[in-house]
Amino acid sequence: MCGIVGYIGERKAVPILINGLLSLEYRGYDSAGIAVLNNNSSNENNYQLEIVKDKGRVNNLKNNDKIKDLIGNVGIAHTRWATHGIPSKENSHPHIDNTGKFAVVHNGIIENYTSLRRKLINNGYKLYSETDTEVIPNLINMYYSGDILKAVSDTMKELKGSYAIEVISEFCPDKIIIAKKDSPLVIGTSEKGNYIASDIPAILTYTNKFYFLDDEEISVVQKDSVEFYDINLSQIHKSIKTIELDSQSSEKNGYEDFMLKEIYEQPNAVRETIGSRLSLSEKTNLNIDYIDFKKFNRIFIVACGTAMHAGMAAKPIFEKFCKIPTEVDVASEFRYRNPLIDEHTFCIFISQSGETADTIAAVKLAKSFSATTLSIVNVIGSSITRFSDYTIYTHAGPEIAVASTKAYTCQVTLLGILAIYMAEFLGYDDKNLQSFKLALLKLPDKLKEVLDTSKTLKKYAKKIFNQHDLYFIGRGSDYAVCMEGSLKLKEISYIHSEAYASGELKHGPIALIEKDTTIIGVITDSLTSKKTISNLEEAISRGAKVLLITNQNIDNDKIDFTVSIPPIHTLLSPIISIVPLQFFAYYIAKFKNLDVDKPRNLAKSVTVE
Ligand code: GLU
Repeated sequence: MCGIVGYIGERKAVPILINGLLSLEYRGYDSAGIAVLNNNSSNENNYQLEIVKDKGRVNNLKNNDKIKDLIGNVGIAHTRWATHGIPSKENSHPHIDNTGKFAVVHNGIIENYTSLRRKLINNGYKLYSETDTEVIPNLINMYYSGDILKAVSDTMKELKGSYAIEVISEFCPDKIIIAKKDSPLVIGTSEKGNYIASDIPAILTYTNKFYFLDDEEISVVQKDSVEFYDINLSQIHKSIKTIELDSQSSEKNGYEDFMLKEIYEQPNAVRETIGSRLSLSEKTNLNIDYIDFKKFNRIFIVACGTAMHAGMAAKPIFEKFCKIPTEVDVASEFRYRNPLIDEHTFCIFISQSGETADTIAAVKLAKSFSATTLSIVNVIGSSITRFSDYTIYTHAGPEIAVASTKAYTCQVTLLGILAIYMAEFLGYDDKNLQSFKLALLKLPDKLKEVLDTSKTLKKYAKKIFNQHDLYFIGRGSDYAVCMEGSLKLKEISYIHSEAYASGELKHGPIALIEKDTTIIGVITDSLTSKKTISNLEEAISRGAKVLLITNQNIDNDKIDFTVSIPPIHTLLSPIISIVPLQFFAYYIAKFKNLDVDKPRNLAKSVTVE
């Protein structure tokens, strides 16, 4: 995820581009860059493409001395959140083709970039960065024979994955060509020129009149006109929409809080995390080919908080498909308890930020005992990646709200993909694995469906937001998700809650149940559903009221409220069943008038012990 801005008009482009980037920094800020078409000569047709880019935040770019040489009225800009290639000057956008005539900024992931790179290299092109993006300007160059629009549409036909792109070229200094698929892009229009951005607030200061580009559409943006085409270059008509939003609320894309926005981003984030790694017809691809999984007799998954819960959800996946005993541990415990690890141990570490102090210490410890270490991280180039033998990235995009939502679902997804990769390596590629794979590929659609539970959960939250203690129960994968649901509730609503394995209720906690105590039951496994129902009935007999989250057909009139969620492979159910629990915590916090994005006493990245 990154932010892109563009401008073409009467004004100097750079100040508009910099302002836009500053407002888009929430989408990523590991490097930033600008390309402008400059005309320094008396010949009004003599334009030159000038680029200034560097590692670091937008202010770094703003203070770069060379920026004042960019005086043109046409420009594109980018603030990056690296997905392919470390944050560095070489990898930062804009990227240019081999002739230096086309400059491109890109938001998204080109999933087939490896084969496109090969194709370009076979055609004599050289690639200088590690990014997926660099194939785009070179493909445009390859397809260019005087018509830039055609070259961009031919390029789009080659791209798999997601993209929002802006293209400028010395060959057509009066145009910015833009296109998108599965990444956002809007065009703001005014008498002083036309503006392009990843979101509305980046350019809301200049205009409130917008065009919205849809997937696989291209637009030719000029100083005083905007034209739209489909991918086959048939012209499309679009009308202007007037936006009545203040820039703060539209930065959240119209959502009240980042947390809610991030909950809704989950289908897309999980789709990006799956990307081109998994397909039914080919072997799973994770770029960790050097690990010999045959040598491991034990797996440790080590993390903190929500990331540890992602590990709990994934443990049965590794045990079922890889047939290796798997232990999940809290990093702050693992590091001090002399765990039994050696060169036959595979240690997986999970951290959204990649800066979690306890998890970093746990990586170092595991390495000192010769274990193989692999980290699952959301932020490219973060500290943990430097200490681990291997890293694989979730592509959740920046997570701003302190309470993690999309990072969790992406972590469980990626752990599932890793388990498939290992099972294939170990030769356990059977029918069961195939159906698990198929289910994993369906996750983005199922996540879209489960977002519909929002209203129901809001209603229930309104009923009970004044309670002081809540209990979550479930078995197996449902127990893992209960722990995460309970943590979410504590984090943002400050309500005391506990999660128990359903069977444990009668061994103590049932003493806490009194009239109207709320219990949230999660049931997604037909094998144990009757058992959990019995445990819920035991609580109901003692006065409890039950909210049930289930994808099973459960007919029980003693349950106060049932929320139906889409059916999914039992081992993947935490990715779906967590969503209603996220909504539940969110709405309770809202009814209590709390700041859901910045809960008290917490920080997004815990860099201390
Ligand atoms: N995939 C591109 C890169 O890593 C663009 C990432 C973004 O959207 O910021 O450079």
